[in-house]
Amino acid sequence: MATQLIVNMNVMAQTVDDPGLVASLNQVRQLRLPGDLIIGGVFPVHGKSNQPGQPCGEIFETRGIHRVEAMLYALDMINAQTDFLRGYKLGALILDSCSNPAYALNQSLDFGALILDSCSNPAYALNQSLDFVRDMIGSTDASEYQCLDGSSPMIRHTSKKNVVAVVGASYSSVTVQMANLLRLFRIVQVSPASTNADLSDKNRFEYFARTVPSDNYQARAMIDIASYFNWTYVSLVYSADEYGELGADAFKKEARKQNVCIALEERIVMKKELMMESIDNLVKKLQPYKEVGARVVVLFVGSEYIPLLMEQVTERMPANKSKPQKKIIWLASESWDRNNEAYILGERKRVVDGAIVLMLESQRVPSFEEYYLSLRPGTDKFERNKWLKELWEQKFDCQFNLPEESSLNKCEHMVQSKENFNPDDKVQFVIEAVYAIAHALQAMKQKLCPDDVIEKEWIIRNGKIPEVCAAMRQIDGEDFYKNYLLHVDFLDPFLPIPKRVHFSPQGDGPAHYTILNYQPNNHAEYSDTERGGYREVGKWSEQKLEIYESEFFWNVENGGDGKVPISVCSPDCRLGYKKQLIKSDELCCWACSKCEDYEYLVNETTCQDCGIGRWPLENRTDCYDLATNHLKHMRINEWYSIVPIIFAVLGIMVAISVILVFVLYNETPVVKASGRELSYILLVSMIMCYAMTFILVSPPSTLGCALKRTGIGFAFSCLYSAMLVKTNRIYRIFHQATRTAQRPMCITPISQVFLTGLLAGPQLIGSLIWLLIVPPGTRHDYPTRGDVVLTCNVPDHHFLYSLTYCAVLIVLCTIYAIKTRQVPENFNETKFIGFSMYTTCVVWVSWIFFFFGTGSDFQIQTTSLCISISMSANVALVCIFSPKLWIIFFEKDKNVRKQDGDMFKKSFYSRNSSYRSTMYIHESDGQASREYTALLKDEKERRKISNNNNTVNRKSSSQPSPSITSAAQDTFL
Ligand code: GLU
Repeated sequence: MATQLIVNMNVMAQTVDDPGLVASLNQVRQLRLPGDLIIGGVFPVHGKSNQPGQPCGEIFETRGIHRVEAMLYALDMINAQTDFLRGYKLGALILDSCSNPAYALNQSLDFGALILDSCSNPAYALNQSLDFVRDMIGSTDASEYQCLDGSSPMIRHTSKKNVVAVVGASYSSVTVQMANLLRLFRIVQVSPASTNADLSDKNRFEYFARTVPSDNYQARAMIDIASYFNWTYVSLVYSADEYGELGADAFKKEARKQNVCIALEERIVMKKELMMESIDNLVKKLQPYKEVGARVVVLFVGSEYIPLLMEQVTERMPANKSKPQKKIIWLASESWDRNNEAYILGERKRVVDGAIVLMLESQRVPSFEEYYLSLRPGTDKFERNKWLKELWEQKFDCQFNLPEESSLNKCEHMVQSKENFNPDDKVQFVIEAVYAIAHALQAMKQKLCPDDVIEKEWIIRNGKIPEVCAAMRQIDGEDFYKNYLLHVDFLDPFLPIPKRVHFSPQGDGPAHYTILNYQPNNHAEYSDTERGGYREVGKWSEQKLEIYESEFFWNVENGGDGKVPISVCSPDCRLGYKKQLIKSDELCCWACSKCEDYEYLVNETTCQDCGIGRWPLENRTDCYDLATNHLKHMRINEWYSIVPIIFAVLGIMVAISVILVFVLYNETPVVKASGRELSYILLVSMIMCYAMTFILVSPPSTLGCALKRTGIGFAFSCLYSAMLVKTNRIYRIFHQATRTAQRPMCITPISQVFLTGLLAGPQLIGSLIWLLIVPPGTRHDYPTRGDVVLTCNVPDHHFLYSLTYCAVLIVLCTIYAIKTRQVPENFNETKFIGFSMYTTCVVWVSWIFFFFGTGSDFQIQTTSLCISISMSANVALVCIFSPKLWIIFFEKDKNVRKQDGDMFKKSFYSRNSSYRSTMYIHESDGQASREYTALLKDEKERRKISNNNNTVNRKSSSQPSPSITSAAQDTFL
């Protein structure tokens, strides 16, 4: 208490130091209304003066006079009810705060002074000191009364009554100062307008209540609006007083909770130069030419700051048609006075346009408006409020008491018109504050002195000084506040829509707000509560926000472009990008960085790996299993499959055609000389090779994988075994013939087929054992993060190893083909086998490089494998069988059996008749040797080979004679 007192004393001392203020204290600044119980009132009848030495400025019609009249009207209404308070009349002492805390504090000493008479008051000692201060600055109390004869009245000290409670003040800065003082005298205070959050603190303001809510709710409502429109980056401007500072604190607290960032905080004072600096900063953060920026500016400033603020912004942001810049959108607290013309004077309208303003939800009070409009000079009701005269003079530019003949405007003739009458928005709360006190007094009286009746008869009433019951003469503020005021609960009697009036335990009123949007250029019809270009665009009550989006200024029908304004620091990141905060504690400004393709967004700032085989959903909020609907495998209808299938089909058709031709020409020399069994084995092996394409391009399955693992190897092993047997046979015959006349082993067709089977068998057996060890099956392969491929359960390189045996066969076959490349047997068949083997080696080697080079693309790998297999079959088919087909179709003369007098006889029988028996064996076996000579291309070539051999043989003494060697070749081949 002592601290508070010192604070108050300091304020008063400042007041006293100000000579102007002292001088003005002699002016009339109070209004008294007699009554049995006095209710105080403090209203901003005048504004703060900008003139040094002048505490009070211009008169405020709405915030000042309307509120004073609302209090007087409420008292009239209460006093008119004879059953209410059982006859006690309520009087008033109304002070003008001049919107100035120091001045108001000085004024409210009058409430204290009235208590001074009471020596039983615990604040007696304190009051003495206050009285001392009052003496120092001089009381104006007596000067306000003048007797009709012009003499000064006698002050009846005995008649001084307690102020039971005070209605006021309006501005929080004034209210807080007053409450600090009044609590010392335990005077209850009920404010109809002060919303400062600290006033709910019952440790500091034990006797304070209000019919309006705390700004904590207002801050919440503002943040809800900002969040609704995604305005995450706003600037905050607040006045350097109890209203602005506390409001800003509450806003910041709420902003933190809802992740709204404050780009800039500007604490403003009523000084032009300082305000200019703040506005420069605001514009900088607004970034007028950019899409982003803190476009929304939250205003928590006292009403008197706004005209100057708007004026300065208008100067700083002049209209520029050639280079249009975006405008500030004000999000203003309820101190914004929509009735104040100064806000929108001239060019300021452009700056204010679009402002979103919170207003305490209220209704117009028709009976009060009727009362107010009936006030005219000369009537009692008019004369009792001396500030009305001042208002009349200012409003109607007239003067009172002018001589009859004066041409100047006479105020006595001036009346207010009903048109364009805009009452103050808080009239309802003033009436409710007065009624709340009256109801509390009624309840108290009911309890303390239920039978006390004041004489109603005027003679008795005027004959003696009316007295209230003893118990109520000294009302204890604490008792009154806690036991009566906080418990009032009544219906506001004047509102068109009934409303309950009651207080929260902290003494606050309910939090209901109306959201207005200033749209001066929209001439739509406004409802009753909307006026002067302010349109109702939403509501906030009890934590619930309701927004009528179509009513906002950006709506096309209201002349806007339909785009909700943006007030953000950084634009949203595109899908698949995470926010990278520029400062770790700054939630609203970020850069965008791309997530990996396989990552999803856990939240806006974190990308997380979906895991192998999983892929983010399109909206990146979660992942899904790729295998469910993006499983890849060879599909028959894709080019990767179609091309090898075409190859395979053509190959099969050709191979079958060759088989048919061979079958048709089965008995012709060329077919017979080819070794029919091996030829058919070769052709079937080739068909098997081609058929592998169909297995490879079909979707992997257990059976498909088993066939792949066995089939390819088996087809190759058959093909190359047969070729190896063929080349090996030729080699052996040729090789043996050069050394001995003995017939080589296993050269019969049966043994060749058997040998082929023997050579091909290990591959098949190996594959089957492998199938037993690693059973066939499918698995998911993940060649890249985005692919899941259905594949066989053995890795491809294992499959390659399984072909090693075939490779050995190919190598051996190639070696034999090289060795026998000169042997002209069967139209140089070995030479063509040689071509086939070289090409096969090239195909295989290049395929292996290709296979490992293409890395992870299963389609390319499979296609290349199919084509390589088909190519291997193709080269064999072309190289081995095309010469034979050529002879069959185009050199038919060579494909005839020459039995008599032919070259065969000439050559063989002339040389050595001892070989006849051998030839016979061959003939009887149906061997190609019988036809050999007939199939030699020409005699010249044959001789050449013989000569070559003779040359070789001559060099070696161990070799048989040339004639024998040549004959042996002829015989066995
Ligand atoms: N709520 C404002 C304050 O606490 C006063 C607004 C008004 O007087 O209308 O300062």
